[in-house]
Amino acid sequence: MNTIPRKLLEGFQRFRERHFKSDDSLYQQLVKEGQTPRTMVVACCDSRVDPALVLDCEPGDLFVIRNVANLVPPIEGRAGHHGTTAAIEYGVRNLGVEHIIVLGHAQCGGIGALVRSGGVSNPGSFIDDWMCLVESARRSVMEEMPNATLKEQTRACEQRAILVSLDNLMTFSWVRERVEAGKLRLHGWYFDIEHGQLLRYDETARDYIAL
Ligand SMILES: [Zn+2]
Repeated sequence: MNTIPRKLLEGFQRFRERHFKSDDSLYQQLVKEGQTPRTMVVACCDSRVDPALVLDCEPGDLFVIRNVANLVPPIEGRAGHHGTTAAIEYGVRNLGVEHIIVLGHAQCGGIGALVRSGGVSNPGSFIDDWMCLVESARRSVMEEMPNATLKEQTRACEQRAILVSLDNLMTFSWVRERVEAGKLRLHGWYFDIEHGQLLRYDETARDYIAL
């Protein structure tokens, strides 16, 4: 049987030295007072886009939800195990985060597969069922840029899918009410892992611009 990579155990030792053996007031405070992150990030599971690493954050800074292709489903009536929705509810209603960032990225495997396959095509696949959430983004990109390269279409779909998730966030009354009251702000960000750039969606320009 494979053993746990040594790198991980050594990493934890360094983390422990830094936060638990020294007089780390930050961690002591987080343990004593609990977490009060101001920002929630919805990011992809992709190993290259860890929000805490990319944004160089400290423990306690970010409330992070990660799933395939950083998607937010709309409100759904049927009962089920809605992990992403439950985490969003906790972050908004219990922790009172002030910002939600949907963080998309270049070379997203989930979006890439959706675009390459020409739509959701594998009934019974948990991934395909999940990616159905942004089929509308794929379709609109294909209608608007049918002659673009696959790479251009994929990038456009990655960016359009972020907007679908932002729209879906507004289907939850406890998100919408806070946004309308100015207590919560929603952001669409795109991490271009090929060029090391972070872009944000600008409502006025209706486009992504560098941060
Ligand atoms: Zn991804």
